Amino acid sequence: MLQEVSSSSRPNLAVPGMCGDFYCTIYCILIPSPSFFFSFFFKTQNSKSVQGLVGLRNLGNTCFMNSILQCLSNTESLRDYCLHKSHRRDLNNNNRTNTALMEEFAKLIQTLWTSSGSEAVSPSEFKTQIQRYAPRFVGYNQQDAQEFLRFLLDGLHNEVNRVTVRPRGNMEDFDHLPDEEKGRKMWSKYLEREDSKIVDLFVGQLKSSLTCCECGYCSTVFDPFWDLSLPIAKKGYGEVSLMDCMRLFTKEDVLDGDEKPTCYRCKARRRCTKKFTVQKFPKILVLHLKRFSEARVRTSKLSTFVNFPLKDLDLREFASGSSVDAVYNLYAVSNHSGTTMGGHYTAYCRNPSPGEWYTFNDSRVTPMSSSQVRSSDAYVLFYELSPQYKGLVFFYFFKSSSLLSKNRFKDCCLLLHPCMYHIIITIIIQFPVHATPLTSYLHLLFEWLKMHRLCFAKSAVCSQSSM
Ligand SMILES: [Zn+2]
Repeated sequence: MLQEVSSSSRPNLAVPGMCGDFYCTIYCILIPSPSFFFSFFFKTQNSKSVQGLVGLRNLGNTCFMNSILQCLSNTESLRDYCLHKSHRRDLNNNNRTNTALMEEFAKLIQTLWTSSGSEAVSPSEFKTQIQRYAPRFVGYNQQDAQEFLRFLLDGLHNEVNRVTVRPRGNMEDFDHLPDEEKGRKMWSKYLEREDSKIVDLFVGQLKSSLTCCECGYCSTVFDPFWDLSLPIAKKGYGEVSLMDCMRLFTKEDVLDGDEKPTCYRCKARRRCTKKFTVQKFPKILVLHLKRFSEARVRTSKLSTFVNFPLKDLDLREFASGSSVDAVYNLYAVSNHSGTTMGGHYTAYCRNPSPGEWYTFNDSRVTPMSSSQVRSSDAYVLFYELSPQYKGLVFFYFFKSSSLLSKNRFKDCCLLLHPCMYHIIITIIIQFPVHATPLTSYLHLLFEWLKMHRLCFAKSAVCSQSSM
């Protein structure tokens, strides 16, 4: 479908409808992220030194912490939040007394991304702060990387929460509403209390539906989630896929015997079925593979090879509703090798700018092939919502062709997405810039994007652009 549009049929930038002599041309570009955009244009200057390839010293069994820190350091939006010092604004806004964890975390990220040498950095200042926040991390015992991630994100969130005064808890009842609306209401209720950059990135919403086997009454509960802990599907022997694990996680469960819940309609304890679906997918999806029998007291470890995709993990079948963005790309993995008794954590991360994979083994950082990323050591997977579904709009202004040539511009668009050029041209045709004030232009564009949500689906774009 994509290839059907030949390059000769692509409209030239000097399209009808565009004013010939307007001062400034606005190109609206749907791209993965501003930094990706810039890295593309300025790649030639920067290609020599790749930033962010700095190891973390092991302070004594702290590989679990280093592994997670490197995964977070390669979480582009979070990294930029720290690098651009945007966290300061949130910290200052809130007049908080406790800001040290976020400050130390940001300082560490800044050091990792700005240090010129390749010498490993010591995370000891950061460790002091995480210990203060979560005393369980005092000392030098081996800890669980996923638990550490939970504590860390929770700690960071609390310090940069935009909500300073949480509203009084009034138990509003949304049960009379349709599910979709109930989910939305529950989500905005959540945001009234918990709203931060960390929530923007990591938190999704899970829907659990409980259906009474007697009367068929279905009650729904919506809960925020910071990650999904997936049971490892067992299939005789050999490998299983991540989709198998997702299907097992969302499989309909029967609650019977002692587990019988009380049915709202029957007003009695009934056998029920329970099922999870994802109501809202987060931008960053953290998937935890339950390799350990129990989080606290580990008695056994499953070293099953879980086959997971590096690109295009399509989770739409697990969504509560239709028409959701749920295609993800992998960018980091926290690995655990060894047994429950003694083990070691490392991280495999895709550097945001060159897009290459690296192994972070405490103080050592080494390049690796993307074909090595999948292993039976994979423990916590970090996925990012695929750019073409993310719909992040970035506006790029320049005086006509002074900064880059039209062909270069076109190449950029095509590189980002084969249909991107057509989307942009269609937008420009629909809304000639003229002297429209910027704000109303942006408003129009957002409306247009909302209206043409389906344009991101490849076929729709091509049929539209062939006008
Ligand atoms: Zn019932």
